[in-house]
Amino acid sequence: MRAKQNIQGWRPTGTTVLMRVDFNVPLDSERRITDETRITAALPSIRHLCESGARLILMSHLGRPKGKIDPAYSLRPVADRLAEILAVPVKFAADTVGPDAQAKAAALKDGEILLLENLRFNPGETANDPGFSAALADLGDHYVNDAFGTAHRAHASTVGVVVKMGGGRAGFLMEKELQHLGALLHEPARPFVAVLGGAKVAGKVEVILNLLDTVDTLLVGGGMIFTFFKALGFNIGTSLLDEESLEVAREINTRAKSSRAKLVLPQDCVVAREFNDKAEKKTVLVSDIPDGWMGLDIGPATADRFEGIIKEARSIFWNGPMGVFELPSFAAGTRQVGTAVARATEAGALSVVGGGDSVAAVNQFGLGGAISHISTGGGASLEFMAGLELPGVAALSDA
Ligand code: AMP
Repeated sequence: MRAKQNIQGWRPTGTTVLMRVDFNVPLDSERRITDETRITAALPSIRHLCESGARLILMSHLGRPKGKIDPAYSLRPVADRLAEILAVPVKFAADTVGPDAQAKAAALKDGEILLLENLRFNPGETANDPGFSAALADLGDHYVNDAFGTAHRAHASTVGVVVKMGGGRAGFLMEKELQHLGALLHEPARPFVAVLGGAKVAGKVEVILNLLDTVDTLLVGGGMIFTFFKALGFNIGTSLLDEESLEVAREINTRAKSSRAKLVLPQDCVVAREFNDKAEKKTVLVSDIPDGWMGLDIGPATADRFEGIIKEARSIFWNGPMGVFELPSFAAGTRQVGTAVARATEAGALSVVGGGDSVAAVNQFGLGGAISHISTGGGASLEFMAGLELPGVAALSDA
């Protein structure tokens, strides 16, 4: 992918900048923000543009309101919180391209900020509708995208509007994501080790196939391994099975025989009778999973092997937990892998962790500060590492 124009040194004083951000934050039942990482991540671009004297319009989606107005998904709490963090007023438009947004956008003064209501209240957003895109484009003079997490979606606010505005720039967060992931994809220091986990094979097939050609070792853990073992003809008891991916798991096992990367699957796993923290558990070889038992974590021999391989790595990409780390009884594998990634980073490796669950795991174990880059985009980082072009990035102007 070509390098994109960014906002470093760019001073759009006195013009209106429309910036796509990812304010898709988790809210509790009283609509209080429970984790503001995504707001914090956009602050450098917001501050830079305001200090440059731009009139800044921010737009984002929140949740999946499916094209209808639903107060439960209003971005108003985010506008309030952003105003507190920045200690300046943040105006809020009760619509996205309607009369309130138009009037408030036109009244903005240099350095002021306006946040639009949830883009997904309008069905035109996910449909990448030309009319909605044109109405968004009418609000501003320039476009900036700082929402890496939605860059793999061709929506009105990530693609349609950019086309209408004749191009756009990457914000600081977008730029940082592309730099780190780009370094891994295009010029990784070797050995390059990828660690994949999580529940499902579906959605990770393309990235697995691409990583088999780009990395030196691909370690696979998490619930998805049982689909691979089933494909190899093993008994997997009541472990998670992604039935629809059995055929492709077979294909991956075959491809791995002649791929650049060595594919390493677990040799042992921790099985339990039930899916709960207090359930009876034991460690078995993956070929010996008894009927009625389910695999919920990689076993200690596997964790030691993975740790040894990760410690030698100079580039690491990690997406997905090694087991059900939310339950302390089945968190050991994920913890040991996370710790190994942190140690390798301290020893000079470049590490990127992506995907909500692995990021949560890294934070749960207090390792966040020891990782080179924690990606804000799970799906987007996977598509990037699969070698796919992200439509929201492709739409931006080349540097
Ligand atoms: P994903 O969304 O595919 O990245 O999956 C993440 C989820 O997979 C986490 O909530 C984990 O608890 C879950 N998970 C990991 N290993 C297993 C397993 N062996 N059995 C069931 N769920 C698992």
